[in-house]
Amino acid sequence: MKNLFEYGRVDEIVLKELASAIGSNNISTDKEKCATYSCDEVPSNSYDKEYTADMLVFPESTEHVSLVMKIATKYKIPVTPRGAGTGLSGGALPVFSGIVMSFEKMNKILEFDDKNLTITVEPGVVTSEISSMAAENNLFYAGDPCSGDSSFIGGNIAENAGGNKVIKYGATGAQVLALEVVLPDGSITWFGGKRRKDVTGFNFVQLMVGSEGVLAIVTKAVLKLLPLTRYSVDLLAAYKDTETAIAFVPQIIKEGGLIPSAIEFMDEKALKLVGKYLNTEIPGANAGAALIIQLEDNDMEQLEKTYEKIGKLAQKHGAYEVYVADTRSTKDRIWQARKSIAEAVSTLYSKYTKEDLVVPMDMVPNLLSTIDEICACHKLEWSAYGHAGDGNMHCSIIAPETDDWVEVISKVQSELYPKVLSMGGTLSGEHGIGFKRKAHMKFFMDEKQIELIKRVKLAFDPNNILNPGKMIEWD
Ligand SMILES: Cc1cc2nc3c(=O)[nH]c(=O)nc-3n(C[C@H](O)[C@H](O)[C@H](O)COP(=O)(O)OP(=O)(O)OC[C@H]3O[C@@H](n4cnc5c(N)ncnc54)[C@H](O)[C@@H]3O)c2cc1C
Repeated sequence: MKNLFEYGRVDEIVLKELASAIGSNNISTDKEKCATYSCDEVPSNSYDKEYTADMLVFPESTEHVSLVMKIATKYKIPVTPRGAGTGLSGGALPVFSGIVMSFEKMNKILEFDDKNLTITVEPGVVTSEISSMAAENNLFYAGDPCSGDSSFIGGNIAENAGGNKVIKYGATGAQVLALEVVLPDGSITWFGGKRRKDVTGFNFVQLMVGSEGVLAIVTKAVLKLLPLTRYSVDLLAAYKDTETAIAFVPQIIKEGGLIPSAIEFMDEKALKLVGKYLNTEIPGANAGAALIIQLEDNDMEQLEKTYEKIGKLAQKHGAYEVYVADTRSTKDRIWQARKSIAEAVSTLYSKYTKEDLVVPMDMVPNLLSTIDEICACHKLEWSAYGHAGDGNMHCSIIAPETDDWVEVISKVQSELYPKVLSMGGTLSGEHGIGFKRKAHMKFFMDEKQIELIKRVKLAFDPNNILNPGKMIEWD
């Protein structure tokens, strides 16, 4: 097992071969630049030490990626794929140094196919550019992580990014029809195609989705497009407490008879933090909890009837106020607040962890009261927001006064995780395991499952050079 983590060095020979393969303008050993590309959005003070790449590569094509991987295989150099570095799991951290491969130069939309309703993109395309291109053509790309203005589609696929529209349209994986990938040995292959059905062999496309860049490198993606709905309205329902807000979520679907395109949750502290961060009065700022319910329709009159019905239902189920955002500026205000919470926490605090727990919908209040009890014992602050429709809560556990906060938070996690498991929940709904959460995988997956992960990893990557040190612990 030890051999798996013994690597060659990036020396003059490796540098020379890489420069001649992909051009010296596409490699860098600049120390400052290497440090900038060796992190994601997990604060570096969460780790025992700094992890920095020896060098960076900026491939411009699939062929470049393949050539880099062939050289990496020859000299057994670890390669860490990197998108925009917005990840929340340390997935793009080069934990064994070596090469960080950035996709910022592979940023082209390659094809818009209006006969098959697909779009084919390189991995470095920013998510919101895909949405914009689809909308310009009266179509809709359903992937919608809150980081969509900066994250890359390659990173979204590697993490199976979720976001706001999962309840109606599914996560990133539901939008992916085909992937061109480069395997760790440098070979190039396509999984899937523009077809909507495919049971020919294993579903390799969906194995790639969420595999966190440990099995293969995504170099092209064919994504599904849907009809663009003409009108949408966002309701912000304000509640006195979390329990009442969450209890309403299944009723929207059951009594309301529809699936909204988003059902998002913000607790009292999240509302306060984001108001302070944005320095503005946001709707529902003084609520104990709030839900954002996004409704859409092609018929404005029908949409008005629907939002009136859901608004009344919200009040029947305990909302003391329902704001209707039906103009661009009112909608933007609500979504800016929701999408800025993660940033508010990381700007206002330096010692925190962002949990990405997911439980069955009815267990959300239970989850939040458990976190409250545990944090009270450890004198920690916490706040929750997230995708209520999916039971996926982003809980920020904050240790403003504590020097040994990494230890304290690790104690909190060891008390919390068994309880999450007993609620039928799991460790990550959409941010992934990466480096940050891998030590906790043993709480959530049994030995057989961990063993299968190892065997799948080695089937793709027998030399263990692609994004090593992620997802599971090997000893
Ligand atoms: C403010 C904020 C809001 C966020 N909101 C959401 C949200 O609503 N929903 C959500 O799911 N996430 C969210 N995230 C997390 C993050 O944006 C997503 O995980 C996103 O998909 C990461 O994309 P990236 O391009 O930044 O990838 P990176 O962080 O650069 O990399 C993520 C992982 O993908 C791998 N990878 C990157 N490119 C490739 C490739 N071409 N082939 C193979 N592997 C690759 C990397 O090795 C790494 O393991 C948020 C983050 C922030 C900071």
